[in-house]
Amino acid sequence: MRKKFVAGNWKMYCGDPAKAVELAKGVVASVGSQAAVEAAVCPPATALAAVVTACAGSQVGVGGQNLYPKDEGAFTGELSAPFLKALGCRYVILGHSERRTYFKEDDAFINLKVKAALTADLVPIFCCGETEQEREQGITEKVVEAQVRGGLAGLDVEQLGKVVVAYEPVWAIGTGKNATPEDAQAVHAFIRGLLGSLASASVAESIRIQYGGSVKPDNAATLLSQKDIDGALVGGASLKADSFAAIIQAAGG
Ligand code: PEP
Repeated sequence: MRKKFVAGNWKMYCGDPAKAVELAKGVVASVGSQAAVEAAVCPPATALAAVVTACAGSQVGVGGQNLYPKDEGAFTGELSAPFLKALGCRYVILGHSERRTYFKEDDAFINLKVKAALTADLVPIFCCGETEQEREQGITEKVVEAQVRGGLAGLDVEQLGKVVVAYEPVWAIGTGKNATPEDAQAVHAFIRGLLGSLASASVAESIRIQYGGSVKPDNAATLLSQKDIDGALVGGASLKADSFAAIIQAAGG
């Protein structure tokens, strides 16, 4: 039985540690003691330390939004997986479509990041998803398969079992548009089948596959009731403690 996992991607918002702590404390106050659903917040790097402190002792974990796949070195402005780990992070979002699009991250680079995260004992939240044009062309599965095969290449079965996958159709992110629960479920089932061929059927059954793309309190329950949707990666609605908490409650059924 997979435990549902809801993570909030704060993107480049709430970078002021005082504001971030206020939001994190609101999340902790609403859901910090429940253990039915795994919950995490992923603030900007400037607020990570403060948010880790604000969430300490609660059930709310903290994640980074990116990393550079070297432990240390002359890489001005970058953060490594061991740095995130030392700060108290448990997770890191990798391969988000905003990074693929604006920072030209390709599958091979994302693959190095996934490996660096696993080496540092961080849980990678590995994002994949098609653009609107790709969906219209009927190549969603082909695109997602290439991203999953490329991004998770070279991982052994044990490592694959530690990954969380987030299926995020690009056209649904920050747009208010949703995949229908049935369309999302179909892609999730496809991804699980693919993970089965990369790992094993039993490991694929244990891997959480989150849905992301305009998940809100009013659509969360229907999306999360689908068989292969094991949680949500939430952007906009994670910036208010009450809406994020409502999504976590919906995940708890
Ligand atoms: C995201 O940033 O991963 C995301 C899904 O954003 P939103 O919920 O705002 O669409």
